[in-house]
Amino acid sequence: MKIAENCIVFMQYTLTDEQGQIIDGSKEGQAMPYLHGHGNIVPGLEKALEGLSAGESTKVTVNPEEGYGLVDPQAVQLFALEAFENIDEIKPGMQFHAEGPEGQVQVITVRDIREDGVLIDRNHPLAGKKLNFEVEITEVREATEGELEHGHPHNSE
Ligand code: ZN
Repeated sequence: MKIAENCIVFMQYTLTDEQGQIIDGSKEGQAMPYLHGHGNIVPGLEKALEGLSAGESTKVTVNPEEGYGLVDPQAVQLFALEAFENIDEIKPGMQFHAEGPEGQVQVITVRDIREDGVLIDRNHPLAGKKLNFEVEITEVREATEGELEHGHPHNSE
């Protein structure tokens, strides 16, 4: 079947940045499943995969607007040092997971430690980046009722 809304798609993929460095990818022999049409993956990739079938491969370049968004300067904020007093050692480049306004997981990056506080960046680490995906579709199936209800794939076992 062809990839369309409400399909579970399994893909092997590699994500590289503009310099050709591998940022992310599926493990060899472990295709990643997602529910098509529900924003499980970035919009630019989801759009490009529409209509493909199992066995097909594609290369997709996704601009930041259709990837993880542009860098929002407002998302860089200074926090009081006291907010981090539970953390043993805080260093620039450290990343934390936090809950976003809609309950989604957000990655927070420490940009700088200053006398007046800690500079925190709530932009997605891939915001503002052009993303190069190499994708191979390994399986396409219809989503179950439970998967549609939850908006994500479940283990098929
Ligand atoms: Zn679920």
